[in-house]
Amino acid sequence: MGRPRGFIEIKRRAARYRPVCERVKDYYDVARLRTDAQSRDQASRCMDCGTPFCHWACPLGNYIPEWNDLVTNNQWDRALELLDVSNNLPEVTGRVCPALCEYACVLGINDDPVTVRENELAIIEHGFKHGLIKARPPQVRTGRSVAVVGSGPAGLACAAELNRMGHEVTVFEQADKIGGIMRYGVPDFKLEKHILDRRMDLWQNEGIKFRTKTEAGPAVIREFDAVCLATGCRTPRDLDIPGRQLNGIYFAMDYLTQSNKRVAGAKIQKDQLIDARDKKVVVIGGGDTGSDCVGTANRQGAECVVQIELLPEPPVCRDKACPWPVYPLLLKTTSSHEEGANRHWSILTKAFKGQDSRVTALACVKVRFAGRQMIEIPGSEFEIKADLVVLAVGFIKQELDPGWQNKKVFPAGDVQRGPSLVVWAIHEGREAAKAINRYLT
Ligand SMILES: Cc1cc2nc3c(=O)[nH]c(=O)nc-3n(C[C@H](O)[C@H](O)[C@H](O)COP(=O)(O)OP(=O)(O)OC[C@H]3O[C@@H](n4cnc5c(N)ncnc54)[C@H](O)[C@@H]3O)c2cc1C
Ligand code: SF4
Repeated sequence: MGRPRGFIEIKRRAARYRPVCERVKDYYDVARLRTDAQSRDQASRCMDCGTPFCHWACPLGNYIPEWNDLVTNNQWDRALELLDVSNNLPEVTGRVCPALCEYACVLGINDDPVTVRENELAIIEHGFKHGLIKARPPQVRTGRSVAVVGSGPAGLACAAELNRMGHEVTVFEQADKIGGIMRYGVPDFKLEKHILDRRMDLWQNEGIKFRTKTEAGPAVIREFDAVCLATGCRTPRDLDIPGRQLNGIYFAMDYLTQSNKRVAGAKIQKDQLIDARDKKVVVIGGGDTGSDCVGTANRQGAECVVQIELLPEPPVCRDKACPWPVYPLLLKTTSSHEEGANRHWSILTKAFKGQDSRVTALACVKVRFAGRQMIEIPGSEFEIKADLVVLAVGFIKQELDPGWQNKKVFPAGDVQRGPSLVVWAIHEGREAAKAINRYLT
């Protein structure tokens, strides 16, 4: 424990965002990196509890109190070593993880929790800035080959671990670039893509082979000694209601993927373009994907953005249903919401209305819940005008293609657990790597 009274003397200083009027004009990261001195102060708030619930809550089992102590004591290189033991992509989780750890921080019981996620980011960015992170190819190769199908966080974490163990790893990715949803779902204003490229360069130098624009099928099972299947979960849930066929209604991933490609410099044909400029945008779905669509629409110059959700507005503070240290479902106001979004809860969309085959409005009704039963409130019908509608109502987990059912195939990430989080995908990739290593050796 670097500073015994740190948690009494120092207040939490959470991420500082760039001013809204500045950041909505670009796609750069909304957050500003802290200085090392600020990070040391924040790390010193850690109480080094006897039972670190943060460590328990982090799916990766990150050694949080230990690296907080090292950062407080200016031992960045040792903090980095310890972080590297449990997390293959701290520069990603340090930016986009919902910080399950912070909701379990003991200090959070009666004060603001430690800024664990930003401390993690500070360590890894200090490492890159000061040249502490270098390619370390394995000294010995085992001669065993593994195909990793899918280059999201699950596939990449698995590939990195197996490569460290000395296996020959080839990652197959059907898209033109590596990264999965981190590349084509998460917008640049949360995760600039050079952050991914920097890590890919490192892994390439350590010996991992990447084959992009290559859709891999079960045939790879014959060519490799083992396969990690990390193909994600991307089948979007649809709204099967009247008017769904109208033009101007898109799935969130189609909208975000195209936007991320445009930010990366791609030119999109006019008839394929999904652009919110001067449009009345309605995002259906109140989750994080919906929030990413809100931020994107505002950057594209939407006239107004409305986000609606079927479920009731979540509480602002913990209630009896989710006591500390469980991860609570609380009202979340993201940086994208701060940039402008009219948010409404308990709203059911009954139909899309249109003119000349384009969507012009949503017919909605307010609802209430009696237990799990949804009841429409009579007389509460209303319309929301819309020129562009984005469906962000989740993804459907698919059964595995029978061709992949083979003892040499190890699934990991969203393909196996359904839509989840980057941190869980990394965890699963690492577990798959351990299982593959046991199988091969
Ligand atoms: C818009 C959006 C925003 C999100 N934001 C966050 C966030 O801020 N924080 C967070 O923690 N989580 C977030 N998530 C969730 C998180 O991104 C996912 O849980 C995570 O990416 C899953 O990782 P994965 O490796 O299992 O799959 P994915 O990231 O989906 O990667 C799977 C990859 O496999 C490739 N693939 C599929 N089939 C084949 C094949 N046959 N051959 C070759 N390649 C193939 C796909 O092209 C894809 O690149 C978000 C999700 C979405 C949709
Ligand atoms: S990966 Fe997520 S849960 Fe784990 S320490 Fe980092 S921010 Fe916390």
